[in-house]
Amino acid sequence: MKKHNFSAGPSILPTSVLQKASEAVVDFNQSGLSLIEISHRSAPFVDVMESARSLSLELLGLENKGYQALFLQGGASMQFIMTAYNLLENKAGFLNTGTWSNNTIKESKNFGKVVEMASSKEANFSYIPKGYEIPQDLDYVHVTSNNTIFGTQLHDFPSVSPLVCDMSSDIFSRTLDFSKFDLIYAGAQKNMGPAGTTLVIVKEDILGKVSRSIPSIMDYRTHISKGSMFNTPPVFPVYVSLLTMQWLKDLGGIKAIEIENQRKADLIYSTIDQLDAFNGYAAKEDRSFMNATFTLAEGAKGDQFNDMLKSAGINGLNGHRSVGGYRASMYNALPYESVVVLAEVMNEFNRKGM
Ligand SMILES: *Cc1c(COP(=O)(O)O)cnc(C)c1O
Repeated sequence: MKKHNFSAGPSILPTSVLQKASEAVVDFNQSGLSLIEISHRSAPFVDVMESARSLSLELLGLENKGYQALFLQGGASMQFIMTAYNLLENKAGFLNTGTWSNNTIKESKNFGKVVEMASSKEANFSYIPKGYEIPQDLDYVHVTSNNTIFGTQLHDFPSVSPLVCDMSSDIFSRTLDFSKFDLIYAGAQKNMGPAGTTLVIVKEDILGKVSRSIPSIMDYRTHISKGSMFNTPPVFPVYVSLLTMQWLKDLGGIKAIEIENQRKADLIYSTIDQLDAFNGYAAKEDRSFMNATFTLAEGAKGDQFNDMLKSAGINGLNGHRSVGGYRASMYNALPYESVVVLAEVMNEFNRKGM
């Protein structure tokens, strides 16, 4: 039986997507060939890549607005480097809201001056800093929209340009004016597909402004000019990402999934707040709709709670080691019913006063 999968990443994908993907591995569209044994330059795969690139822009409302979509390798972590390689000439500004932003800052220092505009490190990243000043002379500003580990999320974004955003764990989950961003990147394995590819959406006019020479594979312009086929792309992750995006489009797109995601978040947070046995981790106004972090009021009862989770078929609820406690990741593909099951377990645990 399918488990209730709250894994933080790699994470749940729609069952229909897994089914189609597994069929394509054996026989892709009745071609007599597997998706993963054909040339990436063959017409059927070029069609997959082009569909994935255009559908990602369509879902975000960014078609015909000067953006290009790329499916690259190296994970979101490679984008910590590529963003700075391509954009950082003198100085860039960073909002330090968690482990991933912290890593971006660290890597960007290899390329230029880094201004940490604000940080919530002193409170173990349990909130999003606000009211900070943004220097005038920055090449760009980098933010992380959703802090997967700590369970906080930016509900407002700085009005600056160029704005670069790591959306690895909340891409396609909520409506935003995506045209406010000049570069968006997202590792596929949280809300889109298997590990192995990273979606990069870049506004072309921000490129080509740094004086350094950039190795071909690190240069966004190379990938744009080659239609995201500079070298062999990760064919299977790109295909599964396409299937997930098609699933989302059929559901009604980001607008429709946002309503579901809001329902799931409302249920988990109201459960945490109502029950004495649990404490929310993140500041209420900064809570993430994707990753809800919480702890037990009495940590010593962890074994009992874990047993109850296991019997209910709940997977992946353990918090990240830097926060402890629990984390319910409620990505697009997680059904509302799974959150209902988790809330029931939490209520029962509370009732029994275990
Ligand atoms: C998971 C995650 C990353 C790291 O992604 P990799 O693909 O493993 O490099 C970066 N940023 C955020 C927000 C994440 O959730």
